[in-house]
Parts: sequence; structure tokens; C-alpha cells
Amino acid sequence: MNVKTMRDARKPHFTVLPPLALYVHLPWCVKKCPYCDFNSHEKQAELPFQEYVAALIRDLEAMLPSVWGRRIHTIFMGGGTPSLFPAQQIDFLLSAVRARLALEPGAEITMEANPGTAEAGRFRGYRDAGVNRLSLGVQSFDDSMLQALGRIHSADEARRAIGMALDTFGNVNIDLMYGLPGQTLAMARADIEEAVRHGTPHLSAYQLTIEPNTVFFSQPPELPGHDAAADMQVMAEETLAAAGFEHYETSAFARPGRRCRHNLNYWEFGDYLGIGAGAHGKLSFADRVTRHEQVKQPRDYLKNDAAIEIRNIAPRELPFEFMLNALRLVEGFPEELFAARAGLPWSSIEAGIMAAQERNLLERSAQRIRPTGRGRRFLNDLVGLFLPAQE
Ligand code: SF4
Repeated sequence: MNVKTMRDARKPHFTVLPPLALYVHLPWCVKKCPYCDFNSHEKQAELPFQEYVAALIRDLEAMLPSVWGRRIHTIFMGGGTPSLFPAQQIDFLLSAVRARLALEPGAEITMEANPGTAEAGRFRGYRDAGVNRLSLGVQSFDDSMLQALGRIHSADEARRAIGMALDTFGNVNIDLMYGLPGQTLAMARADIEEAVRHGTPHLSAYQLTIEPNTVFFSQPPELPGHDAAADMQVMAEETLAAAGFEHYETSAFARPGRRCRHNLNYWEFGDYLGIGAGAHGKLSFADRVTRHEQVKQPRDYLKNDAAIEIRNIAPRELPFEFMLNALRLVEGFPEELFAARAGLPWSSIEAGIMAAQERNLLERSAQRIRPTGRGRRFLNDLVGLFLPAQE
């Protein structure tokens, strides 16, 4: 028996590690939106930009030994509202990242921005710092919908921000939401059609859902029913397909060649470092996969007195974790990606694949596994087939 066959078959095994990305969480917003369950905190006073960036760099440095010799493929600055940060601080942060980690040439560097904090000079500053993709949280072009969502910006401010973003970065995403309080199918269609007219190469369309620990959870607004929301989703998919967008993930649409590489890395179960308050990460090593999570409250994070939490993902959970991400991809994944990213043999998911095929939730063609239309509609049921058996 050679060494390879002697290794513990229950443990993951990697000869080549997955691509590595960097997520940076910037946790403050002007105002907390009533539907938002992200780790975002309403700005109460002057924000400690400099101290926070120093904490991010400290955090990154602490994790360097875990990623020695690896290159960063993409960076994503999310929040919160990263565009509250002055360009000078973003420049300082990205320079510090480059000084400590090698970036792939042409690495995608995305930043999220709120149209209510958009300024042309600030956008140019971000671009000069190295940001090459901007993601704008527009949500709707209807002022009454924006008000119902508690957004700080108007539809006209969103239009102006899109124009500035396209002039400055070219590579721009618009986030839209549908299934909003009082929204009709015609109103949802008007939002999607206007988004297409603005000419951004990427669009994300999310259904509004009511999440625990939000204002909408304790005071729920009246939302369109399940069937009405499903009609809006179908309308969005058809309108965007007719306009030349590829629907590549549950909520993501892109013009050819403009898919978000950072998010694709999550869905393909790649690795990522997460820095910033409450940020999560996932890292693979030769014989294990770990997750890490930073302390959630910005004030604790700034004090640096709470340790980062790191845990190994149990090998029996890896098939489910892989599928939870990969089955969001409309085109699914090539069979070999499972061993490459979960580090386990195909036999560990064979039974789940067969059960999903029998229920017409998955299809297998040309060595690819992809969810059927039914599988996309009942994604939770599909992914549930890969949950580890109770011990
Ligand atoms: S701006 Fe975005 S991150 Fe901030 S509270 Fe609203 S939805 Fe949440």
C-alpha cells in the first residue's frame, strides 16, 4: 500500500489549494435600514477611520502565517457602507495589503457604495487607490419604495451615483430588491428596465425577506404574496435575459465576461480571508479546512481584546458546505471541482447526487452537475440532501 492510499480517507486532502480572496468588512452606515440583518451599525459620532484601518492591518498580519506564499485573486470591501471611508484611508489599507500579500495581476478589487454617500471626487480617490469595481446599493428607482425601505437616498441620487460610477470605474454592479411593501409587478418591471437602461455590466436582484433581529421582523410591513414575488423573479430573469445578461447565480446577472469573480470564488468553495468586525473566512490546508470569525462589535474589534475564533470544518460537513454554495450556480459545477475544493472523494456525495436526480432536482451532463429548474425553486430541499447523517 503506498502512502497515498494509506492516508486517512475521512480527512480532506489537498495537493493544490483553492484560489484565495480577501474580504474586508467596514461596519458603519449613516442609518440602519429596517430590513437589514448584516453586521452594520448606525454611525453615532465621528467614525474612527484611522484606528479601524490600523485594526484591519493588525488583523491581516495575524493571519499571514496561515496563507504564506499564496496570492490574493480578488478583494471585496463590504459592509456596512464602505463609501463612508475617506479615499485616503482606503488607499492606506490597500497599500498595506499589497505590502503584505502578493496580488494576482489584474485582481478584481470591489467596493460597496451607498448612493447617499456618493461623490465624484471620492469615487476618483477610490479608483486611484486601486478599486476597479463598484457595487451600488440602489434597491429601487421608485422614491416611495426607497422610503418604505428606510433608505437614505432618493431615486435621483441613485441615478447620479450610477452615472459617476460608470464614468469612474466602468465595472459597476447595481443591487436591486423586489417583493417590496406595496410593490406591483409593473413597478418591479419598471425598476429592472430602468436598471438595464443605465448600462451597468452587472445586476443583482434580491427578494426582500424578513429576517430575525430587524425592525421589519418586529413590525412586519405588508409584502406581496409568494406567487406575486415568484412572478417578479420570473419577470426579472426574462427581462434581463432579453437584454443580454447571463443569469449565473440565484440573484446575479452579468453581461458576458463581467461576472463577479470575488463572489464566484465563494460559490465555487474557494478560500477567503475575512478581516474586520464580524468578518468570516475559510481556509484550506493540506489535510483540513477551517473557518474563522472575527469579533462582531466594532468597539470590541477596535480594542483588539477578543480573539478570533477558528474551527476546523468536520469532514462530514464538507459535502453540505460545498453544495450550499455550488448549487447556487445556475450552470452548476464540473464534477472534478468537488474533489478540488472539498478535498474528498466523489463517493462521499454519490448517494446525495443520486437521490437528487431521482427527485428531478439535479441533472448531470457532460461531467457537470447542475440544479434543474425545480432544483433552483426548491434549493433548500436540494441542498438538504447533502446534510451529514445524524451520528
Ligand atoms: S445601507 Fe446596507 S448595510 Fe447599511 S443598514 Fe442599509 S442595508 Fe444594511
